[in-house]
Amino acid sequence: MDGAFRQFVAMNRQVVIIGGGLAGIAAAIRLADDGHVPRILETRRKLGGRATSFDDPRSGVTLDNCQHVLMGCCTNLQDLYQRLGVLDRIGWHEQLHWLREDGGIDSLRPDPLPAPLHQARSLLRMRLLDRVAKREVRRAMWRMIRMGAAGRLQWRGRTFLDFLRDQRQSDDVIHLFWDTIIISACNLESARVAAVHGIQVFQEAFLPGRFAGVVGIPDVPLRELYDPARSIIENAGGTIDLGCSVRSIGFEGRSVASVVTADGPIEAATVISTVPPDRLAKILPDRLHATDARTANLDAFESSPILGVHLQLEQPITDLPHLVLAGRPVHWMFNKGTDEDGHQHLHAVISAADDWMELSEQEIVHRVVDELARAFPCIKDTTMLAARSVKEKRATFAATPHVESKRPSAGPSVLGADGGDLQGLYLAGDWCDTGWPATMEGAVRSGYNAAAAINGDGGLVDELRPGPLASLLGLR
Ligand SMILES: Cc1cc2nc3c(=O)[nH]c(=O)nc-3n(C[C@H](O)[C@H](O)[C@H](O)COP(=O)(O)OP(=O)(O)OC[C@H]3O[C@@H](n4cnc5c(N)ncnc54)[C@H](O)[C@@H]3O)c2cc1C
Repeated sequence: MDGAFRQFVAMNRQVVIIGGGLAGIAAAIRLADDGHVPRILETRRKLGGRATSFDDPRSGVTLDNCQHVLMGCCTNLQDLYQRLGVLDRIGWHEQLHWLREDGGIDSLRPDPLPAPLHQARSLLRMRLLDRVAKREVRRAMWRMIRMGAAGRLQWRGRTFLDFLRDQRQSDDVIHLFWDTIIISACNLESARVAAVHGIQVFQEAFLPGRFAGVVGIPDVPLRELYDPARSIIENAGGTIDLGCSVRSIGFEGRSVASVVTADGPIEAATVISTVPPDRLAKILPDRLHATDARTANLDAFESSPILGVHLQLEQPITDLPHLVLAGRPVHWMFNKGTDEDGHQHLHAVISAADDWMELSEQEIVHRVVDELARAFPCIKDTTMLAARSVKEKRATFAATPHVESKRPSAGPSVLGADGGDLQGLYLAGDWCDTGWPATMEGAVRSGYNAAAAINGDGGLVDELRPGPLASLLGLR
């Protein structure tokens, strides 16, 4: 092949990807594997988007913007980590520690009974809930098993609270048990989250099998997980342009023709946008975005905030790897380890953190310490060496029933008015139609879907199958 022809082939195989978060990385890796030439344009100077790390000048250490947790059922995310060669950097935790109102700690862990009974004995032992409350939980779990995945679709358009009320769950059980799990998993309380996602959390993580509900926590800073992406993409002839902000997508008629950056236009016939809906609205020409069924409802998406709080303590106060604070305003505590000087790093997470966004850092730290003192009173006597709160106001889109039908598919349709959707434009990002709430798994699924729409092949990896008893009872 002569040079000009090689360049022509490379241009034809080029896919410009706007955004280097998980959706963009996932799309690029799959496209690179399939012989395409991915070119990621990322406005920040690092990869990872909302799941990344930064160097904190106060403590001198690299911190994640917030602890990111996955579960065994996140099969596409694990597939991506496998392709990046970093799956062994995830530590898996079978046992979950729950702080009760009385300051005691319950441990929830699977046992050898077949799914869906593998958590049943542990749940029975939990002192968080009394006998009547446990009966209520069993009733709703049984309903979710019996209805299977198809049954949850009948709850489209309604909230998870509607479902819980239908299963005669009391306010206490909703507050202490269901909301404790749902707020962390979906970043919305049961009164707001779509029932399909609330039910999905239990059908796909808690009930089908032992590994599905195991919690995965990276044991390196998040951004290190993405380091191998560069060589995979470059070996395919692609590039990652950091610090490159896309200002607009250019069209000839209704087909993509270019991507305009601060440094000038880049010719492009195939573009994947992975940016959140509000950003996409800014880079699409006004005259066009209402004419594509996928982008006509971008303003329908609302966001929900998350607050992460890093604390560096002079002495260790706990050996527990984590703590779930049932029914409390602070939802999780993660133990990030002890450094060579014996100082402990704890990280607290507050999901659906609307009420915290206007608070000062001092007030936030004060409240978090008060909450942690319920489990570890000695925190009050320990010197706080450094504290850092990270407010993510637009942490995730709000997966309410209202937006379910508005989440766009990856590829353009050729049907419809004006000759169909905008050709050459593919959409990804956790807010797209992945069947998942806003999660890393959802983001990776969206990237894989976009790559498959371009390839006409590939796509998602298999989900975990429920165990035989769970299947027999109707879980699938
Ligand atoms: C605080 C917090 C805690 C979370 N905790 C969890 C968790 O525990 N578990 C979990 O599964 N999920 C969690 N999530 C959600 C998860 O981080 C996201 O769902 C996922 O990272 C979204 O990836 P994405 O690629 O779709 O979007 P993004 O990560 O937002 O990626 C989009 C990228 O596009 C870039 N970009 C934007 N505009 C432009 C432009 N004009 N030009 C070029 N680039 C542009 C952005 O800089 C960004 O890098 C959390 C999120 C937050 C914020």
